[in-house]
Amino acid sequence: MSYDAIVIGAGAAGLMCAATAGQRGRRVLVVDHNAEPGRKILISGGGRCNFTNLHTAPDRYLSANPHFAKSALSRYTARDFLDLVEAHGIAWHEKTLGQLFCDGSARQIVDLLLTECAKGAVDLALGEPVRGVEHGDGHYRVTLGSCTVSAPALVLASGGPSIPKLGATGLAYELARQFGLSVVQPRPALVPLTLGADEALFRELSGVSAEVEVRWNKVRFREAALFTHRGLSGPAMLQISSYWQHRTPIAVDFLPDAAPDWLLTAKRERPRQQLARSVPLPERLAAVLLDRAGLSGELGAQSDKALRAFEARLADWPFHPNGTEGYAKAEVTAGGIATSGLSSRTMEAQKVPGLYAIGEAVDVTGWLGGYNFQWAWASGRAAGEAI
Ligand SMILES: Cc1cc2nc3c(=O)[nH]c(=O)nc-3n(C[C@H](O)[C@H](O)[C@H](O)COP(=O)(O)OP(=O)(O)OC[C@H]3O[C@@H](n4cnc5c(N)ncnc54)[C@H](O)[C@@H]3O)c2cc1C
Repeated sequence: MSYDAIVIGAGAAGLMCAATAGQRGRRVLVVDHNAEPGRKILISGGGRCNFTNLHTAPDRYLSANPHFAKSALSRYTARDFLDLVEAHGIAWHEKTLGQLFCDGSARQIVDLLLTECAKGAVDLALGEPVRGVEHGDGHYRVTLGSCTVSAPALVLASGGPSIPKLGATGLAYELARQFGLSVVQPRPALVPLTLGADEALFRELSGVSAEVEVRWNKVRFREAALFTHRGLSGPAMLQISSYWQHRTPIAVDFLPDAAPDWLLTAKRERPRQQLARSVPLPERLAAVLLDRAGLSGELGAQSDKALRAFEARLADWPFHPNGTEGYAKAEVTAGGIATSGLSSRTMEAQKVPGLYAIGEAVDVTGWLGGYNFQWAWASGRAAGEAI
């Protein structure tokens, strides 16, 4: 069976690429070992799929080459995908920070992609393991569970290894290496951080959340943080996890809007108030922070110096994560197929004609909030227009 292009991976990027190429008249086969396409899309955004972000910009992506994503992102924008969503009559809403979600369900996005693929007469081979790929005479021969297929173009769209229970694997990296492409060390990203025994007290706060500013080096995010029985999660911590490096601390400002000297002011105004009640944070969190700082009693009983020191500490509280919850819990994989070997315009490997890599398999990783799907759409579109 021969095609113009074979796409490995019926996820966000692969389906977008196949639909684009199919609608240009290319005969396209999409292969996936899962029996249903787009499993990550179905569970994304809490089942409502945060399908793009209105503030998409290249500086919201991590990559060894921060310029790489610019071309594809500028040629297929959040507005372009939103137009497609609206053309399919899918109702949507902006939740926060430019994040767009379906009003109904993530299945509508999978249906949109499958409808677009059908318009391009794309064939799908689902439930088919990829046993091997060979290249010769200008053709890629892909051995599947039940047959062998070939095409002059092969698109690696099988994502990264995060959430193996959904069928995620490192196949794209193996195939990229087979064809001489480099792979930037993959690592779990948008992943909860774990705390060790020294910070075990915080693990007792499981379920408590607060709006914070978290910092690592020069990177900062202001969003909700959530304490878990293993450590730190919530949007703020997931965001910083993509940048965090092992054995380094992160800093948290628990009260980013507090006025200078707010505790001294409170002491003057309400000297009889218990310290624990003057910290405008969830009660259990305030109690643990005071405990760690060794403070208790009424405001009036504290020295100005001690209150100033506590204020400063609340604004710059160090945490020392001892790891992450790994690929089992990581929303994405950072790192991946090195962009240095790919064309930023077409996603084709510079030295391997006909080989393309798109989506999460590539060393381009977005922030939390719809950025990763926008990269999948944009890179899928770029390759789909080229093959
Ligand atoms: C819980 C969760 C929630 C998320 N929510 C959001 C969100 O709301 N917004 C957002 O922008 N991003 C979100 N993401 C990230 C987003 O899902 C991914 O970045 C995106 O799906 C990547 O698209 P992709 O097509 O590159 O890879 P994938 O969507 O992962 O698709 C890869 C496909 O390749 C197939 N495959 C893998 N290995 C093999 C193999 N060996 N043989 C054959 N086929 C294979 C897989 O079965 C899969 O269908 C979320 C991720 C998770 C895990």
